[in-house]
Amino acid sequence: MDLGIAGKKAIVCAASKGLGKACAMSLAKNGADLVINARTLADLEATAAEIRAATGRSVTVVAADIGTAEGRASVLAACPAPDILVNNAGGPARGDFEDWDEAAWMQAVNLSMIAPLMLIKAVMDGMCARRFGRIVNITSGTVKMPLPDHALSQGPRAGLTAVCAGLARKLAPHNVTINGLLPGQHLTERMQTGLLEVARRTGQTHAEMIAKRVADIPAGRVGDPFEFGEACAFLCSAHSGYIVGQNLLLDGGRFNSTLG
Ligand code: NAP
Repeated sequence: MDLGIAGKKAIVCAASKGLGKACAMSLAKNGADLVINARTLADLEATAAEIRAATGRSVTVVAADIGTAEGRASVLAACPAPDILVNNAGGPARGDFEDWDEAAWMQAVNLSMIAPLMLIKAVMDGMCARRFGRIVNITSGTVKMPLPDHALSQGPRAGLTAVCAGLARKLAPHNVTINGLLPGQHLTERMQTGLLEVARRTGQTHAEMIAKRVADIPAGRVGDPFEFGEACAFLCSAHSGYIVGQNLLLDGGRFNSTLG
């Protein structure tokens, strides 16, 4: 299917690895030119080279912390008039509610809620004026299915989701959409690191750990970042203008509900 985004300009945040990288690759495969961001320049350049080689598209790198105003300004300076914005960042640490102080909460809210909102604020008027805009927030399945040790993730992301639910309706008349993509268990570097850490502590093998993770996933497997990227590309396509303020859960069916 031609997604109708050839030549569109896309900002993909936190895109040197994992889900962000997969989204960047899928957008470029469909003809978008990219500005990709992450903090570590060497990883970012390696990813940019990989995407250029695979797609032939223009890929500009901006090494910056997207949780800072300066970082966001440098990303926007590299792409002042994007057609597509994919908001993403590293996830906050797991832990116990008792252990998090005010600073930990402020950091999580800043990275997972304020940073994407400020980027949306910066790009939405231009998108409306040009009558095309696709904004995708990578959040988490925990927004729908909260977990006790994920409060720093699900709290700020639920806030982002609520703000965008209202804002999406305001932007929709201008052919500008905001939607959420909610990963479940995708085998990225972040997940691998988590598995290795638990394996080290408990003496379980990698295969045993994966088997436990997928035990309550009807699809019987973890998610492939590739399929996440493809879903992102569709939400960013010319054909998705009627998908407004939705939150698409990619979790292999783990969250059991009649209404998704
Ligand atoms: P990942 O494989 O660890 O990749 C994270 C990417 O984000 C890297 O490119 C990293 O590069 C970049 N990054 C981290 N902090 C950043 C910052 N402050 N500014 C700019 N870039 C930053 O992680 P992932 O699994 O793709 O996860 C992506 C997001 O989805 C996370 O927020 C995670 O919580 C959420 N999520 C993932 C899953 C899953 O199954 N994988 C499930 C639920 C939610 P640098 O470190 O060089 O900056």
